[in-house]
Formats: sequence, structure tokens, C-alpha cells
Amino acid sequence: LQVDESDIVRTLFMRGITLSMSQMLDKNTVKLVAAEFDVVVVDSSPTLVTDAAKKRTEFISEEDVDDLAPRPPVVTVMGHVDHGKTSLLDYIRKKRVAAGEAGGITQAIGAYNTEVEVDGELKTICFLDTPGHEAFSAMRARGAQVTDIAIIIVAADDGVRPQTREAVAHAQAAGVPIVVAINKVDKPGADVERVKQELLELNLVPEEWGGNTTMVPVSAKKGTGVPDLLTQLLWTAEERQLMSNPSRPARGTVIEAYLDKKRGPVATLLVQAGTLRPGDIIRAGASYGKVRALTNDLGQTMPSAGPSIAVQLTGLNSVPAAGEEFEVAPTEQAARLAAYDFEEKLKVRRMMEMSGGGSMVTLSSLATVDEDQEAMQRLNLIIKADTSGMVEAIKGALSMLPQQSVVLRFLLASAGEITVSDVDLAAASGGLVLAFNLEADEAVSSHAKRLGVSVKSYRIIYELIDDVKAAMEGKLKLVE
Ligand code: GDP
Repeated sequence: LQVDESDIVRTLFMRGITLSMSQMLDKNTVKLVAAEFDVVVVDSSPTLVTDAAKKRTEFISEEDVDDLAPRPPVVTVMGHVDHGKTSLLDYIRKKRVAAGEAGGITQAIGAYNTEVEVDGELKTICFLDTPGHEAFSAMRARGAQVTDIAIIIVAADDGVRPQTREAVAHAQAAGVPIVVAINKVDKPGADVERVKQELLELNLVPEEWGGNTTMVPVSAKKGTGVPDLLTQLLWTAEERQLMSNPSRPARGTVIEAYLDKKRGPVATLLVQAGTLRPGDIIRAGASYGKVRALTNDLGQTMPSAGPSIAVQLTGLNSVPAAGEEFEVAPTEQAARLAAYDFEEKLKVRRMMEMSGGGSMVTLSSLATVDEDQEAMQRLNLIIKADTSGMVEAIKGALSMLPQQSVVLRFLLASAGEITVSDVDLAAASGGLVLAFNLEADEAVSSHAKRLGVSVKSYRIIYELIDDVKAAMEGKLKLVE
């Protein structure tokens, strides 16, 4: 832009966005800034503009550079329902227990670490054990970036299905490398070659065909090929040169948390930098406290947890939300202040979101909106469709519309019925609800009417896009 950084900070400040010079901006904010300086942003990755743009910075800072050491990969399993996600995660977990790693009963705590022998060396992998792209994207929507590698599992007797496509799209949108597990090879109808063929259309080309996607035939039920899969995962991880500084105060992400009647708040944390120890004082989201014993999913006590190690702990004063960042604080007072600060910022953010869109907007009333309303340069959308594939398709298509003067913002884009809370969200932030292959029921319609929210249903994707375009153009006139 060839303008002073402070001008950018000021421009954003005027719009109610407080940022320091070293912070990253998401795509829409970049567009907003650029528009302010009459510069057009050409989006070279128009596929999926998701909240991932808000991706949290890596857990490495300049001071860490001299102390970096390799860290284990964090792996997520995604794929179509019934293709074997749970079976694979269970097999790997049980195998480890059987291998004498522990007594005790395993408990799903949201993540577990396992050791694998590769070339005579023991290596660790961390598995997130809530499978599926919904969990993956929910984490990302909160700005948490935890997964290093995605296993896309495809049943060899069923092939590529809708959720396989979605899972691949989510992993690709996140820029996470994919390893394919072609599962159920023990079944009579299994056809590995056909699956590979089908994966070509998702731009996944097997290595043996000259591509760069590792594909491993496995049976999650019998365990065939699973050791090979784990070895391939570690090789993929090695290529990525995953690093972290283990010798600094710990930081990472809350994977799961709940309130236990006897033990109080229980949280599973993934350490992403530094080493966490009992006695450390931490702040996690708006919670804080002194770490009592660290345990793993086998209930074993752990003396410490370094990078890419998942641990469960108690000692927090409240239940933090999954996806929140945690960090070790120097003193309890500092932790308490940081937790308080976090909560205050959250409140401000919510308030800003609530007031962000100003007055209610409906497709037909766009042209009558107050001329000097700055917030009108943003069009808030809630997209609902019958399938999540369709949701992504709509988002993808809308993201390709030029957004120099009016920026589209997806408040929510999800599959499933239009709900009263969708309408509330639209009302709170001056947005539109656009539905595809869905009709609002009576309760939702009357709620929308009462709040003056526009809920429109479509059966043809181009009509939806045309309407949004028209709405944007309507706004354009207002802005000019
Ligand atoms: P998810 O929905 O992806 O978590 O799938 P599940 O792990 O629940 O598996 C769905 C069904 O497929 C279950 O009945 C499993 O027993 C079965 N299954 C999973 N993996 C295999 C496999 O490798 N071979 C066979 N024959 N069945 C499998």
C-alpha cells in the first residue's frame, strides 16, 4: 500500500478494530484496509475463505530460535461416516496398551500420544481423538491451529463419498498435509485401485502414480497396514520439520474441558511450546489456576509434558472453552489478571459483534439504509444449506465475488435447518439469512418477521449469488 503502518492501525481503529503493528489481519480486514486506500485486492486463493484466515500464529517466537528441537506431529482423522475413523483411533490406542505401555483403563480425554518404532528409534505421535471435520473446523473457527497432518480415511468397499470430499476440502483449506488411509481392505468388496482413481478428482495423486500423496491400505479392524500408516505419518512429519522450543514456559491449546463434580474443572491441554509441570500457574482462556497432577489418557501421572504432548489436569478455577489458548504465568496474580483481561476483551468483542452491523438489513431494504453508515460496507451473511458440501460450495462461490467496496462476512455457514438462533444472530449483527434447499418453519418465519430479519430460501445457486451481488451493488451505491 505504500502507506505508513500507523495509518493502517489508525484506519482500523476508526472502525473499532484495535490491533498492534505486529498482528496478522484476516482477508476481509485486509480488503477493508485496502479499500480505504483505494487499492484493489486480487484474491489469488478464491476457493474457501474461511475463518482460518484468523489462524493463530505459530507457537514460535524470535527468542526460541536457538532452542528449537523437533516435536511430534499432531494428527486428526477425518472421513465419511462409517469409513472407520473411530476403529482406527481405537486400534492404535489399544495396540499401545497391549504393547505394555500401561495398565489402567483408557479414557477418551480428547487426545492421546502413542509411540512408534521407526528405523529402530521410538517416535511419538499425538492423535486428536474427536474425529471428523466438524471438530477440526470448530477448532479452527476459534483460531486454534493444532493439527499438523490429517489422515483422510476412505473405505475401500465404498470409495469417495460426500464427507470424504468435505474432509479433504477442510484439510486443504487449512493447508494441512494429507495422508490417505484406504481402510477395510479385509472386506471382500475392497477395491484399493478404484479408491485411488476416485481420489484423483480431489487432486490427491498417489505417490506410486507420480503424485505426492501417501496412500496406505489398512484394515482398522485387523490392524493390517496400520504400522505402515504410522511410519508414513512420521515420515510426512519429518519432511515438515516440526519444531518447538521445549525449554520455555508452556503454551498451547485447550482440547477439551468439563466440570467434574468431585474434581472440579478438568481440562485436556495440548502443549505446543515449552514444558508444562505440576505446580505451574496457568491461564487458559478466561480461567486460571495452579496445575495439580498431570495425567494422560491411561490415568498415569506424568512428571511433565513437552511440545505435542496432551495432558489432562485439574486446578483451574473454571471450565475453559475448547480451542482457547493457554499459557504459563509467572505468578498467580499475573494469571488472574490475564484471565480477567481475556474476559474483558471477549466482552468487548461480543459487544462489537452485536453492534457491528448497525440496523437490521433486509435484501429489499438495503437501498434505504442511512448513507453515511460506515458499517454498511460489510455485508453480514448467515448461510444455511441442506448439506455441508453445499454450504462450502456457496461460500466458495460468494467468496469469488469482487469485494473491493463491500466485504462479505460469513457470520455462520452450516448445514441443517434454519433455527431461531440463526435469526437472532442475524438480528444482533444486521445480517441476512440465506438458505439453500431449506425452508424456514413457521416459528422461525414469525421470529424473523418480528425482528425484521430477512430470511430467503433458494433452490438455484445462481439466484442466491445474484441476490447477494445485487445486495452488494445496492450497498455500493450507498457507499459511493
Ligand atoms: P466411523 O463412523 O468413521 O468412526 O466408523 P467406525 O470406526 O465406527 O466403523 C464403522 C463400521 O465399520 C464398524 O462396524 C466397524 O467395525 C467397521 N470397520 C471399520 N474398519 C473396518 C475394517 O478395517 N474392516 C472391516 N471389515 N470393518 C471395519
